[in-house]
Amino acid sequence: MNGSMNQRPLLEVDDLAVRFYTLRGTVHALEDVSFKLGQGESVGLVGETGCGKSLTARAILRIISPPGKIIRGHIRFEDKQLLELSEKEIRDIRGNQISMIMQEPKMSLNPSMRVGKQVAETLMIHDRSLGKRAAMAQALDMLNAVSIPDPGHMSKRFPHELSGGMAQRIMIAMMLVTRPKLLIADEPTSALDVTIQAQIIDLINGLIEDIGSSVLMISHDLGVVAETCDRVIVMYAGSVAESGLVEEVMENPQHPYTQGLLRTLPDAIDPGQPLYSIKGTVPNLLEEPLGCRFAPRCPQAMDRCFRQKPPVFDVGPGHQVACFLHETSSPQASASSGPSAGLEV
Ligand code: SF4
Repeated sequence: MNGSMNQRPLLEVDDLAVRFYTLRGTVHALEDVSFKLGQGESVGLVGETGCGKSLTARAILRIISPPGKIIRGHIRFEDKQLLELSEKEIRDIRGNQISMIMQEPKMSLNPSMRVGKQVAETLMIHDRSLGKRAAMAQALDMLNAVSIPDPGHMSKRFPHELSGGMAQRIMIAMMLVTRPKLLIADEPTSALDVTIQAQIIDLINGLIEDIGSSVLMISHDLGVVAETCDRVIVMYAGSVAESGLVEEVMENPQHPYTQGLLRTLPDAIDPGQPLYSIKGTVPNLLEEPLGCRFAPRCPQAMDRCFRQKPPVFDVGPGHQVACFLHETSSPQASASSGPSAGLEV
């Protein structure tokens, strides 16, 4: 997929911040998250568990429940500001223009409804003029497109009668049958056996190529993103650390966190050597970090990193990094500084 960023982006997230107001205190879960996603483009959102990838996706769809709250930012999709829409207006966008494949397909499917009917009902909600028979015919075509064997027979099964891989194919059918402009795939293979993970990724890629959807692929696996995406956004502790074209970031990572993540890939480790891990743990976001969120784990941290939030620097065409190490080496430094400094891709 090759999206063009010369056109107006399909999706633009700007300065997004999310808090969770808990009995233990306020969790600063997302801070200054900014990025763009072009028409037909495929962008990977990567980082460790808890870094805010899925939360960013949920914020886009406005499915964050209390005590979570979006406290700042703009999310523009086409010509609509999603955070300003009524509940009914955002419901019309969910599933129709923006669809999301969840990690656990069986948790997302209705356990008491036959799977074929679930796909057909998705279509009928999308197009209210569609009759039951026509919807079921299209649903069967879609089951065929996601390589469900004997769709007529399988469509009559309930979710608990399906394997994890089959359930995920049904989920993909449901999410793509309405031909959404944007597909968010949230770790779509993490609950599946490794043997079928590649099949599912290939399936998603093939279908979105046909439909022409843009994709936000959420994964903790840089390898998956490298295989499927045009660009990558690396998140750490609720903020964006680095972004750029996949090949550029993989071959020339500039943020110490990205460099550490790449060292954890099995391919980067010599045979017989122990697996590499980034020292320390993700910070407790109950207290708003004063400086760089990666500072306590960063092997190159300087004093100021613990006091000041790093701005964003251009380190190459379309390649940006939020790290003080690039302050002097980047003549094109384009960042703002201070609390609202964010990373725009
Ligand atoms: Fe490390 Fe400082 Fe760069 Fe943060 S700003 S990644 S602590 S060097």
